[in-house]
Formats: sequence, structure tokens, C-alpha cells
Amino acid sequence: MNGHRARKRFGQNFLHDRRVIENIIRQFNPQPAQTVVEIGPGLGALTGPLLERLDHLHVVELDRDLVERLDQQYHRRLTIHAQDALKFDFRELVDNGARLRVIGNLPYNISTPLLFHLLDQADVVSDMMFMLQKEVVQRMLAGPGSKVYGRLSVMLQSRCEISKVLDVGPGAFTPAPKVESAVVALTPRDKALDPVCEAPCFARLVKASFAQRRKTLRNNLKSCLDSEQISTAGIDPSCRAETLSLEDFIGLAQVFCETESATE
Ligand code: SAM
Repeated sequence: MNGHRARKRFGQNFLHDRRVIENIIRQFNPQPAQTVVEIGPGLGALTGPLLERLDHLHVVELDRDLVERLDQQYHRRLTIHAQDALKFDFRELVDNGARLRVIGNLPYNISTPLLFHLLDQADVVSDMMFMLQKEVVQRMLAGPGSKVYGRLSVMLQSRCEISKVLDVGPGAFTPAPKVESAVVALTPRDKALDPVCEAPCFARLVKASFAQRRKTLRNNLKSCLDSEQISTAGIDPSCRAETLSLEDFIGLAQVFCETESATE
């Protein structure tokens, strides 16, 4: 690793498996003039191959030691944003209306909040490809009835098409993580499934619904909707959020958002 000591607090597990790297780049298929942002470039495992194909690349990296190395190694055609990706304003990179492509082998310790942060800016993103802990990818793809179906599944599926691209074992990284990994592709839909999916009240409703997994909707949604209103949406108030489909959440949100705007 050229003298760099991997920092656990930054979720540093560096990719070294050439076949995995080539596979990710092939699937991502970067085109020279596209605006691409890499989150967490680290020692450049993806950065180098990306730069071979792109006119220019933006990277967001929090570790100052790595920022310095990247600056020395790839100073041409690379813009380094030495910032926390969780606070990074991706909108500022939009140039001439061209939407962003985002890629990264993400720090696993912050991957869920990072996915929510990106979801808030999904309107300026054309697609994303991320290496994540496999368990997180399973949560992203899960449907009703699954043990891992939850807020992350509903929120991401309400805005994006999601597909798993590749499974990756711990041996592809240095140091090897204790968990399995997977690469996932997300494409925000051009047209929302329903306008309510983009409203803040939808996010609030989904969050409240899953607040306590074992509780019924009637209990979790006490501060949002009463039993009668839940029934109006065609949902049994005594069921649990984990049994509801995306369409059920859309129906519930329509009632909730209407109630909210009426009381404002
Ligand atoms: N892309 C490299 C690779 O594949 O080998 C490194 C991946 S490593 C799993 C995650 C990277 O994200 C590290 O470089 C780490 O320093 C960086 N990172 C951690 N937290 C970050 C944050 N909040 N914002 C931006 N980068 C972060």
C-alpha cells in the first residue's frame, strides 16, 4: 500500500483485485465527456482506470494524507474535493445541466447515511455504482415480507431502479474486511412512480412506519395518521410496515401528505 496505513475510522479497505476493478469499470462504462464523481478514491484503485477513460474526474476524499498523495499522483484532469462526502453538495458539480454519474467503493461505516444523502440529490444524478457491504445491498433490494426489508429498501426503490452487478469476497481488499461485499447499480427514475415519492412527507411517513419494526402501523403512525385514515388508504392498521409494498406506502403517503397540507 505504498506506506499508507489503512485507517479503520475512514472505512479503508483498498481494492487490489484487478479482475474486480476491470469488471466494475466495464460495467460502469465511463465515456470521456461525462461528469463523473468518485467518492472515496483512496489509493486510486478505481481512480486510475477511470482517468484512462475520462477527460476529467471529480473525487471526494476525507483523509488528508490520501488527498496529498492523489494530488501528487494524478494532478492533471483530477479535481479533488477534500471534504466529507456526507456533507458534500453534489449539485455544485452540475455543469450545463448534464447530470452526474457517481461511483465509489464506499466506506462501509457511513454507507447508509451516504445513500440517503445522495437520494436527496437524486434529481442531479443520472446513475450510481457502488461497492457496499453485501448485507446493505440485500436491504436495498429486499421486498415486503423479507426480514431485511425496511426504510432503506422503500426509500431507494421509490426513486431508483436498483440491480446487483457483482459479488465480491473479502480477499479482493487490503486489509480484508470481515464481511462480504457486492457492487450495486442505481438509476434514479426520470419520471417519479408518483409525485408523492419526492415529497418530504413521504420520507417522514416511511421513517415513522419502520420506527419500531415489531409494532403495528397503528402504533408507529400515531403521530401521523389515525386508524381510520390508515384504512382509507386500504391498509389494515394492525399490520406491520414490513408487509407493505411500495404501492401501499404511496397510497398511505397520499393520505398523510394531504392531511398534513390541510393542517398547515
Ligand atoms: N476507492 C478506494 C479503493 O477502492 O481501494 C478506497 C475505498 S475505501 C473502502 C473508502 C474510501 O473512502 C477511503 O479512501 C476513505 O478515506 C474514504 N472516506 C471515508 N470516509 C469518507 C467521507 N466521509 N467522505 C469522503 N471520503 C471518505
